[in-house]
Amino acid sequence: MIKSPRGTRDLLPPDTALWNFVEAAVREVFQAYNFHEIRTPIFESTELFARGVGEDTDIVSKEMFTWEDRGRAESDKGQSLTLRPENTAGVVRAYIEHKLWDRGLSKLFYIGPQFRRERPQKGRYRQFYQIGAEVIGPAAAGSQSPARDAEILELLATLLDRVGIVNWKLELNSVGCPADRAQFNEALRQALAPVVATMCADCQRRAVTNPLRVFDCKVPEDQPIIETFPTISQFLDEACRTHYEEVKNILNAVQIPYVENNRLVRGLDYYTRTAFEFTHGALGAQNAILGGGRYDGLSEALGGPAAPGIGFAIGEDRLVLSLTTSAESVVRKPDVYIAPLGAGMNREAARLARELRRHDLVVDLGDDSFRLKKSFEAADKMAGRYILIVGENEVKADAFAIKHLASGEQVTVPRAELAQWFLRKK
Ligand code: AMP
Repeated sequence: MIKSPRGTRDLLPPDTALWNFVEAAVREVFQAYNFHEIRTPIFESTELFARGVGEDTDIVSKEMFTWEDRGRAESDKGQSLTLRPENTAGVVRAYIEHKLWDRGLSKLFYIGPQFRRERPQKGRYRQFYQIGAEVIGPAAAGSQSPARDAEILELLATLLDRVGIVNWKLELNSVGCPADRAQFNEALRQALAPVVATMCADCQRRAVTNPLRVFDCKVPEDQPIIETFPTISQFLDEACRTHYEEVKNILNAVQIPYVENNRLVRGLDYYTRTAFEFTHGALGAQNAILGGGRYDGLSEALGGPAAPGIGFAIGEDRLVLSLTTSAESVVRKPDVYIAPLGAGMNREAARLARELRRHDLVVDLGDDSFRLKKSFEAADKMAGRYILIVGENEVKADAFAIKHLASGEQVTVPRAELAQWFLRKK
């Protein structure tokens, strides 16, 4: 038997109803904040991620699905392509390619699959889905303002509340600007020097390439050592400190609770200033539902103009895992099952189904080879509410027997009144 590849999975009904419920709610929230959808390619040139995410991040150094194009055209040959491991780099590439700065502030959202070669476990897959958003634009359009950071965080609180996720926790930090980070990295190097030999292999590599990344370490034995290291908050310059204070002031004003976590530096290199995560207890080890932050230098790193920005990515798989709503409660069940009884009744049944579906009723349709008993079983199986019998007598009378499946009550309704009758029963 051929199975789906490791770390991928099929999303089946009724669970897909839950995914659609989440996406519909999320789209409404984005609309209320005047965000518009962007869809970028699922693969991009590898260089985009190397530059936009960072060569020595775990994502780029270990987790990407990369291949060399074997295209026929000379220009395609040997081009290195990668399944996108995240969507911010793609959005910023599109921002630059289409000169979206002409519109002032771009407020964009996306929903789609991302790919990372990680060790699969509950809440961690190789193909997973993210719902994300970015606010990016020239500084003159206010893209750098702490008001943008606070608005994004308030949007997220609204969105989680809206889909029914309770008990989320917002963890907040500022990772400063590149100059602060350089000083901080230096201090970390010094702190690492006497102890790094006792740490894990990844941390030994990080100590050389990018000391900040030691905060990504999940190895339990290393944690007490990491606890003793300096934190970025000690290195913020005046402007970054003021920015961070104002984000917190606005959050207080709109009553969004948060906790500060001065060890939160997030997995990507391009973050500046605000960095955040929302976590949820029900998720176990993989407890981050979403993460995000500011990336003021990213557009320039990708060859674009200065365009400060801030964004987030929600792990949709984890969001769905945290829901208390059941798939059954959001699935739309058939209003009526139409049972053609006797040879030649398929045509009449199809006509009726077409009429009723035009009124936005959910209609399922049987087959005229079924006996009455099999029709009832089929209607029951799909949890329809009513069965409508289409037999020769009904067609002649132009009135149809409708039976309520749960109670067995039966009525006869003329064809012209059928749709209204079902709509009244909804
Ligand atoms: P990141 O791009 O790493 O900041 O991830 C943002 C969010 O995407 C995380 O908080 C997770 O909810 C989700 N996520 C990241 N990697 C995976 C994965 N391999 N499987 C499922 N969800 C993931």
